[in-house]
Amino acid sequence: MIKGCLRRDPLNKYWVIFAPEKVSTIIKQSSEQEADFDLNPYAPGFEFATGRDILRKINPAYADQNWSVRVFPAKKPVLLIESEVNFKGKGLYDVMERLGAHEVVVETPRQNIYFDQLSIEEIADVLNVVRERIGDLKKDTRFRYVMVSKNRGLAAGGTINHNYSEIKAYPFVPPLVQARIDNAVAYYNLKERCLLCDIVDQELESKERIVAKNDFFVAFCPYASRFPFEIMISPRKHGSVFNTALSDFDIDKELAKILRLVLLKIRKALKAPAYNCVFHYPPVNSGEKELIESKALHWYISIIPKITNMMSDALEGGVYTNPTLPEEAAEFLKNIIE
Ligand SMILES: [Zn+2]
Repeated sequence: MIKGCLRRDPLNKYWVIFAPEKVSTIIKQSSEQEADFDLNPYAPGFEFATGRDILRKINPAYADQNWSVRVFPAKKPVLLIESEVNFKGKGLYDVMERLGAHEVVVETPRQNIYFDQLSIEEIADVLNVVRERIGDLKKDTRFRYVMVSKNRGLAAGGTINHNYSEIKAYPFVPPLVQARIDNAVAYYNLKERCLLCDIVDQELESKERIVAKNDFFVAFCPYASRFPFEIMISPRKHGSVFNTALSDFDIDKELAKILRLVLLKIRKALKAPAYNCVFHYPPVNSGEKELIESKALHWYISIIPKITNMMSDALEGGVYTNPTLPEEAAEFLKNIIE
């Protein structure tokens, strides 16, 4: 019998993954912290500890390494691929098996290194692998959303002191994602334009909150940043990054350049803080809604350095207090150079 489940809160509409086997990890994290954080099963030589790879990339530029990027199923997955879509009602409550996918992307065999110290090619390899995994997971019609996130450092929820990301495929669209899509679709219905394209155009024009840019991407502190030094990285043109004369890998290199630069700026400016980095993609297998969703909003990356804690009004009300104006944060970061 599969332990745990997915439960939906009817008042807030959020889904909660109940994963009882995670309890030992969580208790360990909160009590012993640093010592365990440095035990590294993602280091070369410990591949046996993580099981069979779903995908392994070998970059010829690093001939001394057996791999440059590895993807494998999480050892303690919070979502289980062998489950089924079986929404059930318990009175007014909704419950289902913990269906989904939970994979780990180990981004480099190199230890004791910051992500921004990897080469452009190494980071592009990671982005390429992520692209490939999303493409594969979206073929599974049970899934509605694929979330790629990087939780770096204990304060950001990271559990291992190594560069890695997690990919989770959910059988539902997360409620905050759905709220963003609803806003973007309402905007599109009114103006026939993508909301994020308009935001990007306005930010490029005003220049006040721009942190970095290249021909294809722009990084800026959002107008109403919730957290100090929060950053969005977005393609400059809607969908065009996948439709130019450049190959996927050349586009990944352009994205790698700006991602690396932004993370370097954050590390230098804020003394290597823990951070969350999330890739926001459109939902998958949306059926008839797919066309309008693809027109109303495009993908982007958000980066949130963990230098403040969430307070009650943010947690329960969605009202944030930020001591740093995004214009000041952008100005500060803009001046940090390699
Ligand atoms: Zn757009």
